[in-house]
Amino acid sequence: MPFEGLSDKLSAVFKKMRNKGRLKESDIKEAMREVRLALLEADVNYKVAKEFVANVTAKAVGDEVLESLTPAQMVVKIVNDELTALMGAENARLNFSSKPPTVVMMCGLQGSGKTTHSAKLALHFKNQGKRPLLVACDVYRPAAIDQLKVVGEKASVPVFEMGQGDPVEIAKKAIAHAKDYGNDLVILDTAGRLHIDEELMGELSRIKETVSPQEILLVIDAMVGQDAVNVASKFDETLGIDGVILTKLDGDTRGGAALSVRAVTGKPIKFAGTGEKLEDLEPFYPDRMASRILGMGDVLTLIEKAQTDFDAKKAAEMAERLKQNTFDFNDMLEQMQQLKKMGPLSSVMNMLPGAAGKIGDDEAEQGEKELRKVEAIIHSMTPAEREKPALINPSRKRRIAAGSGTDVSDVNRVLRQNEQMQKLFRQMSGGGKKKGKRRRNP
Ligand code: GDP
Repeated sequence: MPFEGLSDKLSAVFKKMRNKGRLKESDIKEAMREVRLALLEADVNYKVAKEFVANVTAKAVGDEVLESLTPAQMVVKIVNDELTALMGAENARLNFSSKPPTVVMMCGLQGSGKTTHSAKLALHFKNQGKRPLLVACDVYRPAAIDQLKVVGEKASVPVFEMGQGDPVEIAKKAIAHAKDYGNDLVILDTAGRLHIDEELMGELSRIKETVSPQEILLVIDAMVGQDAVNVASKFDETLGIDGVILTKLDGDTRGGAALSVRAVTGKPIKFAGTGEKLEDLEPFYPDRMASRILGMGDVLTLIEKAQTDFDAKKAAEMAERLKQNTFDFNDMLEQMQQLKKMGPLSSVMNMLPGAAGKIGDDEAEQGEKELRKVEAIIHSMTPAEREKPALINPSRKRRIAAGSGTDVSDVNRVLRQNEQMQKLFRQMSGGGKKKGKRRRNP
């Protein structure tokens, strides 16, 4: 879980403030010293940390905060707003050219995740109706071309390559090819080195001058910490980048890169990579990231995930059944399958407010085990039993337990869960009626 250390430390600082009740200016200053240390330990650039704390302090020591009834909460709100501003306030989108194809040039150090994210980006925009073309401009390692072909195939996106030729020529030809074949988005996967060197920068500059990409995206590995800022500054100075893709945000990164890159370069983080799979790409929302860091969860991302992963038709069917107040075991099974589609339980649960960073692998595994058990129990029911749970008498319970390799007590528990859900849905539809009445008689 990224930002875990930072989240924990900030929560401890806020807790101490809350326990004090009323706050004096000196309390805020002390808390801000601790915030600054927490940021530095999370690998936030020191200048950024210093400025951040100065901004928060300036806003927090006013009478409005100190005299308020909930000063600690107001400070948390200020920190949240400043964290959001630090990362750029709004989600920065990709700029598309009015004259297709839009050319996106991916650059970054070797191993940062350039090739993987070229394909992730292609898949992301293909799902939005674009017709991307991936281009192998990393000509120095034959393996790099093969890797792009592999990920391109996985994403079902065509790959343009000319083996080990001149990358500038390859980029030019690829764009001509895209025009001929109706590809409206060209993604150039360029070469990377272990360190920034003149030769690499020269080559990237030549590609830039020749094809004038709409977007030059720098791919940065979030795990590299402080160094991310140096890399970003150097690339921006020599090449002029338009935005950043921050990768490997799924690991144990301390998160400093996410918090510093925008502040130091002025260039926004546009996307975050959150895993090795091609689907693991999220548009970067500074406000959501700030609330994740502050342990307030990321409900919006969760909802969006649910929206893209849920089958709309099935959801509509489910809503219809809820209206009829039926929620049988087929529905329960369906819901569990939808939940599974959203990814590992740990990542889903960690986006919930209050749970952020607190669901360990063990607990998530326990949860998944439990889900599997419930699934096995439902699978051991006959179709009639699934539709009408009331049929399940003690002898049927014993049969279901034996069939699913569980105990009768487990079966009872699942039956109770189903009853509770039915009750909940009855209450929900009852509540809806009351609201309607209130609206008619204000
Ligand atoms: P390149 O040299 O910059 O093209 O980097 P690659 O795309 O080959 O990625 C380097 C390694 O990082 C590969 O093993 C990828 O699977 C892995 N990787 C890339 N992005 C992510 C990410 O967001 N999360 C994780 N966990 N691994 C990633």
